[in-house]
Amino acid sequence: GEIPVPQSKFRASRQVRGALWSWAVPIEHENPQLVGVSSPGAQLIGLKSDDFWRDPQLAAAVWSGNKRLLGSHPWAHCYGGHQFGVWADQLGDGRAISLGQVYSGPSDVWEVQLKGAGRTPYSRFADGYAVRRSSIREYLAAEHMNALGVPTSRSLALVFTDRIVEREEPELGAIVTRLAPSWVRFGSFELPASRSDFSLLRKLADYVIHHHYSELIRPADDNSNNGGVYIRLLQAVVERTAAMVAAWQAVGFCHGVMNTDNMSILGLTIDYGPYAFLDAYDPDFICNHSDPAGRYAFREQPHVALWNLVRLAGPLSRLVGQDPEKDASSETLEAVTQTLNSFGSEFSRKYAELMRRKFGLSSDHDIADMATIIQPYLDLLERGHTDYTFAMRALCDVPLLLLQKDAGLEQHIDALAARSDCSRLGSSDWRGDMRAFYESVYGPRLAAQGVIDRDSAKAVGAGMRLANPRHVLRNWVAQDVIGRVDKSDDDDDHVRYVDQALELLATHAFDDTVPEHLKDMAERYAGPVPQWGEGLQCSCSS
Ligand code: AMP
Ligand code: MG
Ligand code: MG
Repeated sequence: GEIPVPQSKFRASRQVRGALWSWAVPIEHENPQLVGVSSPGAQLIGLKSDDFWRDPQLAAAVWSGNKRLLGSHPWAHCYGGHQFGVWADQLGDGRAISLGQVYSGPSDVWEVQLKGAGRTPYSRFADGYAVRRSSIREYLAAEHMNALGVPTSRSLALVFTDRIVEREEPELGAIVTRLAPSWVRFGSFELPASRSDFSLLRKLADYVIHHHYSELIRPADDNSNNGGVYIRLLQAVVERTAAMVAAWQAVGFCHGVMNTDNMSILGLTIDYGPYAFLDAYDPDFICNHSDPAGRYAFREQPHVALWNLVRLAGPLSRLVGQDPEKDASSETLEAVTQTLNSFGSEFSRKYAELMRRKFGLSSDHDIADMATIIQPYLDLLERGHTDYTFAMRALCDVPLLLLQKDAGLEQHIDALAARSDCSRLGSSDWRGDMRAFYESVYGPRLAAQGVIDRDSAKAVGAGMRLANPRHVLRNWVAQDVIGRVDKSDDDDDHVRYVDQALELLATHAFDDTVPEHLKDMAERYAGPVPQWGEGLQCSCSS
């Protein structure tokens, strides 16, 4: 019973002051089709995927926003952000609409959000829609990253629509339903601070603390003007952000758009856009076609995270003293600086811990591992532009190969060379250096921790297989799934392709053997990057 308003005439975009969100109603979508449901995602909010597939048309209507859930009053968040280092002022959810919060337990809340369901007051010049390829990429990535142990938002459902969405070329539309305990971003704090709306800023900080960081509250906070809680909040966000980026670096994930509006206050990976997993180990790798200068290149990510935390620290430091109108006191500034300075050691500690697991190194000899083992090996991979995921997975065999003292190690190096850029191997003795690393550096280090016979070598290798995925959502893999979906008009094909990819990447990422129906796909996706899939880049808005 809606009165159709032509989209071209719909100009609700506006500056929203004095509020952190606005009501927003999803637009009606033509012929929504349920394409995917994540079982583990559904479980988070007490549902089963069967609940969706029993009546897929109804589910598609609900998770496209066509049918409103009883009691749901959808809204869009208001936030600002620094984009590529430049303050962009108000941004907000231009194509994300929150349907509600599901309380799965007293401190277990999930904010359910549709992405691509239509315009909001924050859409500015854009249409509020998302296309199928970027929606497939986000839907798969969130569940995959969770399976890899990386803090992330989650996916609930993927719906296709028959809407024609104008991009470089016309494309078809889609909507992802995604879940996070909160979608508040660094930019949510920056915007009220930029407008000197400190009472709104304090409301937001107190809301976030009470609902998501209640462990930071101390009795003294209630009866005095103790602003220490805001420093503790900053400290907690520093720690979580450091852990998140450490996990990115360890798994070879490049986010691509680390603007402050894409930084979760909970330290979750959010807003999957032109992200990529490394193929070749190349720290200079840039995944975002719209970032030619490489601000968000792989190796820059820890530095950018800290830069973003500094943007968050400004607003929070306003709240520490009695009067937010006044510049922060020197004590406050010192506390904030100390907190920000802890990012480097937090990051290094977390990253070393994750990398040591990947190399099978026990933590009692941890001091020099990064300098003597891990970095030298990464340098070798960089020299050869060797495939990162392949090399780390293959490394799981090396403890045993080193003990066998047969041709196995040489074959292993051959396999690495085959997954390297051969033009980079010729000019130096890359193979010899690789062998020397294994025999004179890695082997003795393993022996020092008691890896001296077949049993201990097998045990170390088995542990490493739980830390080095065999399957990651490479750009070409995502593109392959998208291509198959594009080629077919059959809804059942869409469901099958997306579901099988999800099953492989979210359930079997660490498995050498997979169920029969996934075998062909698993072998192909673990194989070499096809020529058409080398150096794929995506751009920001899709
Ligand atoms: P992103 O960097 O992709 O997370 O988006 C940056 C900003 O642009 C956010 O405020 C988004 O909500 C907004 N945005 C991106 N794409 C669209 C779109 N198609 N329609 C409306 N807003 C958009
Ligand atoms: Mg965003
Ligand atoms: Mg985007």
